[in-house]
Parts: sequence; structure tokens; C-alpha cells
Amino acid sequence: MPALVSSGWDVWRGKSRALQEAIGQLRRVLELEKAKGFLDTAVVGGLDAYLRRFLLQNPLPDGHRLLQVVGSLPPGGYAALHPIQRRRVVEALLQALRSPQPQRHRRQREEARAVVPSSPVTQLRGVNRGHAHKLGRLGIVTVGDLLYHFPHRYHDYAAVRPISQLVTGEEQTVIATVWSAGETTIGRRKATEAIVGDETGTMRLIWWGQTHVARQLRTGMRVAFSGRVSVFRGRRQMENPEWEPLDAESLNTRRLVPVYPSTEGLPQRLLRRLVWQALELSAHQMPEALPPELRQRLGLPPVAEALRQIHFPDTREMAQRARRRFALEELLVIELGVVRRKKAWQEGAKAPALVLPQEVLEWFIASLPFTLTGAQRRAIAQVLQDLSRDVPMSRLLEGDVGSGKTVVAATALLAAAWSGWQGAIMAPTEILAEQHFRTLRRLLGDQAGEGPWFSLEGPGYVVMEPPFLGRPLRMALLMGSLRPAEKAAVQRAIAHGEVDIVVGTHALIQEGVRFPRLGIAVIDEQHRFGVVQRAALREKGRAPHVLVMTATPIPRTLALTIYGDLDVTVLDEMPPGRPPVKTYVLRPHQRHLAYDFIRRQVGQGRQAYIVCPLIEESEVVAARAAEAEYERLSRDVFPDLRLGLMHGRMSARERDEAMRRFRDGELDILVTTTVVEVGVDVPNATVILIEGADRFGLAQLHQLRGRVRRSHYQPYCLLLSENPSEEAQERLRIVETVHDGFRLAEEDLRLRGPGEYFGVRQSGFPDLKVANITDVELIELARQEAWRILGEDPELKAPQHQVLAQRLRALQERVTAEVS
Ligand code: ADP
Ligand code: MG
Repeated sequence: MPALVSSGWDVWRGKSRALQEAIGQLRRVLELEKAKGFLDTAVVGGLDAYLRRFLLQNPLPDGHRLLQVVGSLPPGGYAALHPIQRRRVVEALLQALRSPQPQRHRRQREEARAVVPSSPVTQLRGVNRGHAHKLGRLGIVTVGDLLYHFPHRYHDYAAVRPISQLVTGEEQTVIATVWSAGETTIGRRKATEAIVGDETGTMRLIWWGQTHVARQLRTGMRVAFSGRVSVFRGRRQMENPEWEPLDAESLNTRRLVPVYPSTEGLPQRLLRRLVWQALELSAHQMPEALPPELRQRLGLPPVAEALRQIHFPDTREMAQRARRRFALEELLVIELGVVRRKKAWQEGAKAPALVLPQEVLEWFIASLPFTLTGAQRRAIAQVLQDLSRDVPMSRLLEGDVGSGKTVVAATALLAAAWSGWQGAIMAPTEILAEQHFRTLRRLLGDQAGEGPWFSLEGPGYVVMEPPFLGRPLRMALLMGSLRPAEKAAVQRAIAHGEVDIVVGTHALIQEGVRFPRLGIAVIDEQHRFGVVQRAALREKGRAPHVLVMTATPIPRTLALTIYGDLDVTVLDEMPPGRPPVKTYVLRPHQRHLAYDFIRRQVGQGRQAYIVCPLIEESEVVAARAAEAEYERLSRDVFPDLRLGLMHGRMSARERDEAMRRFRDGELDILVTTTVVEVGVDVPNATVILIEGADRFGLAQLHQLRGRVRRSHYQPYCLLLSENPSEEAQERLRIVETVHDGFRLAEEDLRLRGPGEYFGVRQSGFPDLKVANITDVELIELARQEAWRILGEDPELKAPQHQVLAQRLRALQERVTAEVS
């Protein structure tokens, strides 16, 4: 037995169960791929994406055979290979998983280094396993990934000046000779200190903490130093300047120098060196995603040139041009997905035309216990217009909490019933489903409270006789918590077409529920459901109309991207007589005032919410914090009042129970986390106190205070934060004065970006790396181009669209994985 096994391999082969499982799974995938005839169908998203993920999660030692095989793939990856070549690759991968790994000599490894974009980054010079691991954390596994890891800004070190002409406060470069350099201690900090000079003068350089610099700089060396110049005791100096010898490639000085998003232990210098190498070795092999015709028409640089210019730009303009190209590339992939979904939806099966005669509509509206707002009237007209056509409707209805979306939904459901079809409405929680059930019952049949227009036929099943319909209207409630027999009965009734309107939760999209005549599906609080659930509900009918409702204000730019397959209607008018929520930002020492205020409101018979600070790290920690706060408030602050607790670690049933008690007035104060955000109406609740308010987004604060805007009582929102920065305080002040959810959302987007805005679990929105979500012009351009491309090549089969098609598959796989 030759001494083949290196220590690296030993580590890798270590008995980690997760790793063994990952390898086992990879092997099964490869065997399946083989069995299916190498059609790249073994895993959703393709083998390339799968391998990438495997490598990302399981760093392998240098020289591992698997890395070599993956490294030998062409730019387009496995997907680009002919099935005969694929067979060879799969066999080689299986072989690599089987055999122990040989220790290779450095020289051999050197020779094996043919670097292509799909090569693992470890193929680059100067990358050890530690680096590879850290790069992995930035999502960088291959050389191609590294090339697509763009700088987020640049240092402008292009101006080279003699020492005497350096400008204080500016970034610039000086070329000087090292007179002395050594380690020193200043105050208590270790540092390198150097004196350098040119023919015009001398200056002092200091590197805090970086004592290794002292060992690298030698007296007499000619070096370029870049940084910001300051004056200390009348002398010029630079702190922590970038530097490199004059004979080296200028990567860190004398130019626009890239600054990369990085992580602990990956210095900028290293990243720059690696990116430079990657550019030299394989930029020219990078697959071109943009079709040549499009690139020429829009005047965008080709990929290799754009890569060079975005990393090491000649000028700011060149960097900008390159960035625009990649932003468009990124948006184009997203828009291709959106447009394709929309086209499939529109060109697919026909929907039933649902009509509601004008006189029935008028009668229905007249029978409501309130007068519709103008916005509601417009929304209803728009929805009915959509429904009357056989193209399936796909509409997003946005409106602040309390703007009255339910009645719009009710009209749509009524149109279905009138036309002899079924309607379904899905809510994210049981208590919300119940609330809808109750509301619909009131709106559609029993609004005068005079009854008996309906009779209860059993749990969750009512028959109403609305006068304007002229026949009975049957409505059912379907939720997971129904007893199995009840659930079965409701399901049977739905399947036999004995139910006109079904209200429910996720239970609606579960298997076993069959809608023979689903005409419209309404989805409430869309932002809690993903694209996947939306699709699942659609599939329940052949091609039902879909109405999606949300209280999250989605600015137009986002609506274009995420919900781009939907048309948008906005309810931008509140029912009259709802005073806006008086909002106050309080200082920490004013907390007792907030408590006094709550006590007075409760004294007047009202109720209050107390929201605990946002803790994103984990639901467990958040729950524990909420429990502690609940204990504290019950014991020390409000011992005489009735307090309840609700958080995300409680079961849906416990949460519903807490909410129910609060709604029914059995509690005075509900201590809660953000789970209350999508809450049920409690008109009697008039105060919401939000702790740690600075940690929330503006739009989220607005959403939260919407919880108390449910009646004619004056509602209040009190914002507390422990140690707010000036900036945070400023931000909170915006919520005091601005009551328009859209404006707050725009503000949030501008301040925090879409990832933050939508939160981690958000439904299917890919984080943008290059493009800016507020760049409407570019988003619209991408959208237009997506329509053009799919118009000519609906399946993305043309050779010039292959890279786009591949990116789209990868994106969709990622989105699906995040949502489900
Ligand atoms: P949301 O948009 O938050 O879903 P709802 O549809 O639940 O709002 O309506 C909130 C409350 O306002 C309900 O009690 C509803 O009956 C009432 N409402 C809806 N429209 C009007 C209106 N035009 N005038 C007065 N009250 C209304
Ligand atoms: Mg609602």
C-alpha cells in the first residue's frame, strides 16, 4: 500500500456524519444521473448547481480528485457537455469519491493548474484551505464566482504627487524611498513606523497593529504609498497606507483600487491579488450572458472587458459602464423569470369569465354597513373588469392595514358564486381565517344582523341567503385544526361543488383538497406566502383568477421586480373617521410615562399591545426575551392588570388562543413579538408600545401601529429605544410625522435595501448584488428586453440565450429552496 493518503484527505475523510451523508447523497445523485442517461435531470436545477453547493458546504483539500474533475469542466459546466462527455465526467466523479487521495508534489500541482471559470478557487496561487473556507462564506467557490465578486467601492489613488504637493484630507499616492522602518509602541499600541522621502520632502507613515510591515519594508526600497494624508504636529503623515514596491503590478496603489465586501481573515490585498490572477487566467473564458445583438444595441461592453473594468477600472466612467452592464445582466435574469411566469399564466388555460350584474353589485354595495371609499370603488371596478374576461386575472391589491381590502375580495367571491363557480380565500393564520369567515358572513349575508339569513350546518359551514343573490350561498371554513371527520366533511362538500366560498389557511393548498370549479383564489397577506404557495393554490383550479392582497406597501420598483407577474391596484384611501395613529418617540428615561399612559387607557376600558425588541438571531432567543419581559411587566409594572403573552415559539394554537383572549377582552395588555404584525382586528386596542423601536424598519413600524387603527377611538403608538444613535433617532422621527406607508417603505428601501426591507424569510426575492433596486430606469429596460427575448425565443433554446437560461434555472432553484 503506497503512502497515498495525505493529512488533508484524512481530515476530509474524518468521521463527520454530515460529510458522509453529503458524499452518500452526491453518489446517489450521480448514480441517478447515470441511470437517467446523462440528461442532467437527476437534480432540480442541474448538476452544476448541485456540485457547487456540495463544494460550498464541504471544503475539500487541495488537489482532491473531485476538485480536479470539476476544474476540468468547460465554461458552461456540465450542462454544456454532450451526453458522451457527461458520461466520462460522471464516472470520474464517482471514481474520485471512491478512491483515497494521493499526496501530490507541489510541482505536479503547479502543472495541473489549468484555470478556467469553473475551477475551484483553490486552483489559484496563494489560496490555502483556510482562505477557501472563508471565500466559501462569501459564496465564492469557483474562479468564476470570484470574478463576479464585485468591489462595492474604490479608493481613488490615481493621483500621484510629490510629498510637498500632497493635499491634506485627500486620497492620493506618493512614490518615495524608505529611509527607516521599524516596529514601535505608541501609547499601548504596537505599530510599524516608517520615514520616507522624495526629492521634495519627507513624511511619516504609521501602520497600527501591523508589525509585519516593518519586516517587509527595507531601507532604500522605492515604494508607492497610497492613503489619506493628515497633519500631525505640523508634519504630513499617512495612517495605514496601502503600499507596494514599484516593480510590482499596481493593484493597491497608483490607481482606482477596488474595495471588496469581505470577511474576517480575508484582507483586501489578498482579494485583489486573487482577482487579478483570476482575470489574467480566465476572464477571456467567462461565458457571455448577454446576447451580442442586445449588447451592441445598448452599447454595453463585453464580459471580459467589463470584468477588468469593474475590478481594476481605468477611470470612474469605465467602472460605471461595467457596473451598469452587470446590473442589467442581473436584472435581466430576474425579469426573464417574471415575464416567463406571466406569459405562461396568460397564454395557458383559459379562465372562466365571472360576471356580477350591475344591479346585483349596486344592491350588494347598498346593503353594506358602510359607504365604500373611492379607492374601494375603483378597485372593485377593476377586479370585476378582470374577472369578466377569460384571461386569468393576476392582480395585487395593496392597501394599508384597515384600508378595507376584504370587501373587495368579497365582491370577487360574490361574482364567482353568481356565475356558478367556486371562490377560495387563503389567510396565513387560523385566527385570520376565522376573522375573514366572520367578516364575509357579515358582508355577504347577515350584515344587518337581523338574520336568520343563515343557519349553521355544523362547524365551519354556513348557508346564507343574501337577498341580492336570489339563492342560497354556501360558505365553508377549512383549517388544519378541524377534527378529521369535520375536515373530511368540508373537503367532500367542496369536491362535490356544494360549497360556493371556502375560507381557509394553508390547509387549502394541501393535497386531498379538490376544487372542481375554482373560479377565483384570493390570497391574503401575500408577503407571508411565497411564490410557491401562490402557484400551488393556482394549480387547484384549471386556471382560476388570482387576487393577492397585502398590507405591506410595495413601492413600484419592487412591484415590478418581485411581483412583476401581477397587475397592481392600490387602496390609497382610508375609510373616513379613522384618525391617524398619534406617534411619539420617547427617550429611555420616559418609559414610566409610557406605562402610565397605558394604565390610563386601560382605565378607560381600552387595551394595549407591548411589542418586544426585534431579535433576528433566533426565534428561541426572541421568545425567551419576550417571556422575561412578560414576567417583569406582570410582576413589577402592571401587577393589577391582566396580561397575556404571544410569541413565535408558541404553537399556532397557543398563539390563536392568546389572540382570541385579547380580542374577547379577557386581557388588558398583550405582550408580543412581531408575530402580531399580521394580526386580527381588535378595535378596542388603542395603544401599541414598541420597545427597541430603532431595530425595526420604518415600514414595519408602520405595519405594527396599523394594529391599533381599527376603530373611531384615537390610537397611539409609543416608540422606545434603549440607546439610539442620533441617526436612529432621526429615522424614528420620520415615523412620527409620516403616515403614508408607501413613503415609509421607499425610505426604508433607500436606507436599508430590499433584503432588510423584506426580511430574511421573504418570499422569493433574490438579493441584488450589483443592481440597485431603486434604479427604475434600468429595471424597466431589463423588463423590456426580457419581453423581447422571450417573444423571439419563448423556451430560451437559442444558443445566444444559453447562459441566461442557465442563470435563470440557478436563480429559480435558489428561490424555491429559500421559500419552501
Ligand atoms: P384590511 O385592508 O386591513 O384587510 P379590512 O377589510 O379588514 O381591512 O377592513 C377593516 C375594517 O374596516 C373592517 O371592520 C371593515 O368592516 C371596515 N371597513 C371597510 N371598508 C370601510 C369603509 N369604506 N368605511 C368604513 N369602514 C370600513
Ligand atoms: Mg385584512
